[in-house]
Amino acid sequence: MLERGQIGQTFLDWPTEQTFLTPSFTGNGFGATDLNAVHPETSPAFSLGVDYPTGPQYAKYLRSVVKHFRVPVLDDTEVTAVSRHELGFEIQCARGPVVTRSMVWAGGEFHQPLDPRISGSGLTDPARTPEAWEPREGRVLVIGGYESGIDIAGHHVEQGAHVTIVDRSTPWDARTGSDPSFRLTPRSRTRLKAAEATGRLTLVDAHVGGVKRDGDEWVASLDNGTRVRVDSRPIAATGYGPGLGPVGHLFERRPDGWPELDEDDQSTIAPGLFLSGPAIRHGGLKFCFVYKFRQRFAHIARVIGERAGKDTGALEAWRAAGMLTDDLSCCGVECAC
Ligand SMILES: Cc1cc2nc3c(=O)[nH]c(=O)nc-3n(C[C@H](O)[C@H](O)[C@H](O)COP(=O)(O)OP(=O)(O)OC[C@H]3O[C@@H](n4cnc5c(N)ncnc54)[C@H](O)[C@@H]3O)c2cc1C
Repeated sequence: MLERGQIGQTFLDWPTEQTFLTPSFTGNGFGATDLNAVHPETSPAFSLGVDYPTGPQYAKYLRSVVKHFRVPVLDDTEVTAVSRHELGFEIQCARGPVVTRSMVWAGGEFHQPLDPRISGSGLTDPARTPEAWEPREGRVLVIGGYESGIDIAGHHVEQGAHVTIVDRSTPWDARTGSDPSFRLTPRSRTRLKAAEATGRLTLVDAHVGGVKRDGDEWVASLDNGTRVRVDSRPIAATGYGPGLGPVGHLFERRPDGWPELDEDDQSTIAPGLFLSGPAIRHGGLKFCFVYKFRQRFAHIARVIGERAGKDTGALEAWRAAGMLTDDLSCCGVECAC
């Protein structure tokens, strides 16, 4: 495994105030594997003693998994380029070239925040940065009202600021479906209610067209003809891209821009290259939480193992633990109540 930083680098880079939205709880013994676990025999709630880990706490859990299962990881080894090779792929990294038959890209999305497509986007602070979480006085604008937007808005309301969230798709209103990829998580809904109860949160159904500096203030023009004046740089909580970095050219794109995958999460134009992580999309299914994309770890491992002529029977233990989905038609089931 090649890692450009340290194990769990993304989580080490999370703003210190940010915590998981998905709760951890050790139900493993009864077949309900901790939602944030990456291996069926582990539980972040058990090893960390918390239910909503911070970034550094989760990185600690990941380090313990790597240590326990003796996963070989090369730290400080950034992959800078990947090309096709007669044997599979040639990977360029800080420690020299590596040739491999199969490759799994698990580079995550956090390193590819999507800037808002507006004039003056350079005047905004992306929600992933520590600056966006620093205490702010007076009026604050958050562009984007899904999980990250509600999270950071809740944080600033708790600190006493008056926060306006602007989002044309009004994710705070989504009432249909039980999939958290399309509806705010319970944690975010609870924070939203608490923030609204202070009277210091305003939700606006509109699209921000542009941001300008006006003396000591920042002014956002909305497509409903109104303006929002605030006392600090607007915060952009406008999502993340697929983060494919050096393998971007080895994936076809769907019409919505996400990578096209076959039923084994493999590139449709570069067989042997698999995608793992939150960028996986199959039809309308999004795998953007750990408990979703972990369902595919054992499947990808089995496909690679079988091609190499290995016995992959032990991977069935993942199915028994509810951590292996190879039939995607069973995902997306709605809850009755
Ligand atoms: C703000 C935010 C909050 C989230 N909250 C939750 C949550 O509460 N619950 C949940 O289940 N999911 C959550 N997610 C989803 C999140 O994507 C996953 O939790 C998780 O980070 C994805 O794991 P990953 O291993 O695929 O990617 P990452 O954790 O991002 O890991 C990717 C790793 O690849 C390394 N890397 C990247 N490029 C290179 C390269 N070129 N060479 C070598 N190494 C490289 C990085 O350094 C990093 O360590 C959240 C996502 C975001 C952005």
